[in-house]
Amino acid sequence: MAERRWTPSPLLHASAALHVAALAGVSALPAAWPWALGAVAGNHALLGAIGLWPRSSLLGPNLRRLPADNARRGQVGLCFDDGPDPEVTPAVLDLLDRANTKASFFCIADRAARQPALIDAIVRHGHTVENHSWHHSHRFAALGIRAIRREVGEAQRILTDLAGRPPRFFKPPAGLRNPLLDPVLASFGLRLATWTRRGYDAVRRDPARVERRLVRNLAPGDLLMLHDGSAARGEDGRPVVLTVLPRLLDTVAAHGLTAVSLEVVADD
Ligand SMILES: [Zn+2]
Repeated sequence: MAERRWTPSPLLHASAALHVAALAGVSALPAAWPWALGAVAGNHALLGAIGLWPRSSLLGPNLRRLPADNARRGQVGLCFDDGPDPEVTPAVLDLLDRANTKASFFCIADRAARQPALIDAIVRHGHTVENHSWHHSHRFAALGIRAIRREVGEAQRILTDLAGRPPRFFKPPAGLRNPLLDPVLASFGLRLATWTRRGYDAVRRDPARVERRLVRNLAPGDLLMLHDGSAARGEDGRPVVLTVLPRLLDTVAAHGLTAVSLEVVADD
């Protein structure tokens, strides 16, 4: 996919201006250095805190809902993260087939490389494979630019090879990131995607609670996130996502909405 031109968000512009002003202030008035240092440190703390807020778009563009065109068509986006998983992914594909529904799978490339047949199956069933990093490191938001470039770039290479076409979207582990991610995504032609609501189905064991969270205030254009990898198990030992998914698809249909993959999202 073509490289996208990176334009810093207004917040990053303001942060850069603050650094320049702090430097100019200290040159003009050296005794002011504690204030200048405080301003810069405060700015870094702010940027760090914003990166821990997955649904923010202050560090760069972030797909949290489907675009207005898709919402007007009554579409709701459906994403599955952290796969592929040898038990859960085929069962999710089967449930989606039965409801004649397509979804996007944000795959961990390291897992995908060990189970190429599952990526084949995802593609064969008409779903899209998207980039959820190489190793799903829980330190992702603390990585420097070279490590981020490797986590995004190696995953992009592996998933493109396996799926036969490059992912268009990237989601960092747990949605957490730092200001260095956006220029890296731009260089790979990738767009950041997060969610409108997540069900916490990788943590919570009660399917009813997971489902209630996902469909609360359900509206056209919502982007719903579940997990086919790292799935939590209910009291019955069954992966929670497999109990939730058929009910969720029924509720979406009952609202007159259609669940879709990110394939429907037009390029910028
Ligand atoms: Zn994840």
